[in-house]
Amino acid sequence: MDNRPGQFKEKFSYIKPAPTLPLSQKVKDMKKQGINVIDFGTGDPGFKTPESIIESAYSHMKDGHTHYTSSSGLLELKDEISKKLEHDNCLHYSPEEIVITHGAKGAIYNILKILCNPNDEVIVPAPFYPGYLGMIKLVGAKPKVIQTSADNNFKLTTSQLEESVTDKTRLIIINNPTNPTGTVYSRKELEALVSYIFNKKIYVISDEIYEKLLFGEKKHYSLASLNKDIKDLVLTVNGFSKTYAMTGWRIGYAAGPEEIISTITKLQSQSLSCLSPFIQLACVEALKGDQTCVKDMVSCYSKRRDYMCDRLSKMGLDFPEPEGAFYVFPNISNFLGTKYTGKVVNDSLDFANLLLEEEKVALLFGPAFGMEGYLRLTFATSNMQEIEEGMDRLERFLTKFKD
Ligand code: PMP
Repeated sequence: MDNRPGQFKEKFSYIKPAPTLPLSQKVKDMKKQGINVIDFGTGDPGFKTPESIIESAYSHMKDGHTHYTSSSGLLELKDEISKKLEHDNCLHYSPEEIVITHGAKGAIYNILKILCNPNDEVIVPAPFYPGYLGMIKLVGAKPKVIQTSADNNFKLTTSQLEESVTDKTRLIIINNPTNPTGTVYSRKELEALVSYIFNKKIYVISDEIYEKLLFGEKKHYSLASLNKDIKDLVLTVNGFSKTYAMTGWRIGYAAGPEEIISTITKLQSQSLSCLSPFIQLACVEALKGDQTCVKDMVSCYSKRRDYMCDRLSKMGLDFPEPEGAFYVFPNISNFLGTKYTGKVVNDSLDFANLLLEEEKVALLFGPAFGMEGYLRLTFATSNMQEIEEGMDRLERFLTKFKD
């Protein structure tokens, strides 16, 4: 038997590390070294988790909720999520149709693991959340990426689906509001997709992690609520990371057909066992408590978004106006192949590396999201003053480009 440690590296060489977390660590390290870096990189809210949620976790920990619990999650939390889905999303899921997971990412990974057979195809519209591709490959399935178009605000269309669905298609992932573009689908657009998907009987992961982060009059529709027949094919994924600034707590959930949910529970019982009970009880507080904290964060994001979009437009950059989430996805293709102070900038990775080196501004490059020629900036992490400074630096950086 080959027991060289190197073979394990090779075994997983088809998986690339997630691009966001190393960047976030790099920014933290630079800050520790006293470097004044502006972080537009990782989609991690700069706000502290609301005090009432922290207090709830602390008091439950002190009360002894520090032991193993059920692998599907505490009934108190599943009950609260069931009420939330009914109230906010017009979705009727009993607690047996809900499982608590290790972040939304844990929900997505477990769903893929359960639904996909080797070589099944999973359709992912690009630009996409980078986590999807790695997870699809890890479960032995194949990502089938559909390039959406800027002319359609990067929204997936039924005709694009028609061209891509084969008899190997097992699942489609729809993320709404969308990371990295901030695009939000209208009810009509979703209904068109739903009617096609229902006819084809393909499962859907509806990743609704950004549902509360909406700007202006924009409304969010849960895909599974759009027609009663589609619900049996939809796994609704959500969590606490973005809405309540709880990315490090690692808790999310999936709601869907009971047979699939109970299989996820079985999988969890043999892998991570369960989620910490004091964290689950703090999430009950998050859902039941006053939602002013969410409103306040969204109102801050909205001001930052307006400012960032205004500055980027004045720099001559094109991007879809973000209607939700906390990202902007500008097109920088005009700068590629040109020179920055004598150095040729070939692609958006070169662009992002140079910007970090020269101006100490961190952001992510398009190919991480399946689309070259773009950058992703987030207004989640930095405050207004930092955003102003970051925009000044980006503007200065752009002026140093020459054909
Ligand atoms: N889905 C999308 C679209 C995301 O952007 C993220 C995090 N960036 C996740 C899922 C993962 O969320 P969580 O932290 O709850 O695992």
